[in-house]
Amino acid sequence: MYFDPDQVNPPTHLIIGGERCAGVTLNDVHSPSRHALVRPVGWASDAQVDQAVQAARLAAPGWAALAPRERAGLLARFADLVDAHAEELARLESLVSARIYSEVIARDVKVVSGVLRYFGEFADKIDGAVTPTPRNSLSFTVHEPHGVVAAISPWNFPMILSSWKFAPALAAGNAVVLKPSELTPFSATRLAELALEAGIPAGVFNVIHGDGAVGDALVRHRSVDYVTFTGSSATGARIMAAAAETGLKQVSLELGGKGPQLVFDDAADLDRLAAMIARGITYNSGQVCFAGSRLVVQRGIAARLTAKIAETMHGLQFGETWNTAANMPPIINERQIARIDSIVQASVAEGAKVVCGGERIAHDGASFFAPTMLSGMAPDSIAIREEIFGPVLAVQEFDSFEEGVALANHAEYGLTASVHTRDINQAFKAAQAIESGTVWINDWGRRTDFTAPFGGYKRSGLGKDMGRPGFEKYLKSKAIWLEIE
Ligand code: NAD
Repeated sequence: MYFDPDQVNPPTHLIIGGERCAGVTLNDVHSPSRHALVRPVGWASDAQVDQAVQAARLAAPGWAALAPRERAGLLARFADLVDAHAEELARLESLVSARIYSEVIARDVKVVSGVLRYFGEFADKIDGAVTPTPRNSLSFTVHEPHGVVAAISPWNFPMILSSWKFAPALAAGNAVVLKPSELTPFSATRLAELALEAGIPAGVFNVIHGDGAVGDALVRHRSVDYVTFTGSSATGARIMAAAAETGLKQVSLELGGKGPQLVFDDAADLDRLAAMIARGITYNSGQVCFAGSRLVVQRGIAARLTAKIAETMHGLQFGETWNTAANMPPIINERQIARIDSIVQASVAEGAKVVCGGERIAHDGASFFAPTMLSGMAPDSIAIREEIFGPVLAVQEFDSFEEGVALANHAEYGLTASVHTRDINQAFKAAQAIESGTVWINDWGRRTDFTAPFGGYKRSGLGKDMGRPGFEKYLKSKAIWLEIE
């Protein structure tokens, strides 16, 4: 065991204006690793949502007025504290999410401290421009923070996806109210405490807990200036409507995906490729927005490749997130596992063949879903249409380049895609033709660098997180004119 879950003592409070306060309505938080109650967490009342936004509103001007280099320094201190508390943060994360402890230590915590340093360094590097005007005037642009940013994040990578929002928003001089998922609230609270310890002023980084209703109250608050969201496409649409109705606030949305792994006959090293494709749908048990959930494979190698993928899938080990042998974590809750199961069953009823897996697995009190491969579906099958958010790979075969690209392009989603071929021209032509915010060539998965913007086409989102665009969206620009007499 990496840690004893009974020895973890998670913080359950909200952080508003630098103060720890108890939320009002108590709701249970469960551990998916053993279907057990961890502890109840108080959700924010409407009055507490208001207090958090008002605290941010009050703190925002002072934070924005700080010398940018000072903001960068405070964020670097915050990053150092995150690294220093890596094990504690990883325990809080693994206790209630599906994130395996060793992965959180090796990756998630480093991403959080890394984005704080990366975006902190943007604070004093965004210049305005002097625009070309006649000699009797001077016009220049300056960039200003929005003010109060509402950040709402999901449960699948709680710390990472929250940090993609709060780090650039803070670096740009905004105050933040973060509402993490009600399923995974603990790490966010601790991060806000570390921000205070680093010297970030009270009210600049607030955390409130609650479900969609609390998120909705936050989005609708009249003193929120900008809304940044990661979650499902359905919730994203509701948030966009709510933000429009309550002041035409700007929004950025990171939403669902149904990523294709487009594999041509000439793809190199089938063993390596099979391992990559298996990982692309089983990492975090498929609870990944950029999961490679559709294998679109040229007919000539389909049988050989799928056999190798099935072999890799058979070797995976289910276990609690704190179990040292596990590489297949549990599914987050009963509702999600029932949904995965119902889509697989519906797909089979439509005529899909189960190549491997296809069933839920009870193991030491937790619920897992077997790594699954389905084949023989029509393009409009439910397993192709829907984001399943579980370890279910839907296989489709094609003959020509055009047919492959047409299958790779999803009717609704366009978050990420992979193309596998040894022909650089074919790779590039496919990358150009695929409607997706990210295309990996002979690769799958995000690297731990922060420079590439990430965000979807179509129903997969609006705007980008990470990279320069992931910082600049937290600023608005103003043109200032000076008449020269
Ligand atoms: P979700 O949409 O159910 O919830 C996400 C967050 O929104 C939670 O904090 C929730 O409490 C809140 N929320 C729900 N309804 C709300 C409302 N009406 N107003 C304001 N807030 C509301 O998503 P989830 O189940 O937590 O996460 C899984 C989804 O997130 C998947 O679709 C996945 O693809 C997507 N996701 C996308 C990315 C990306 O970067 N594109 C990354 C991770 C996850």
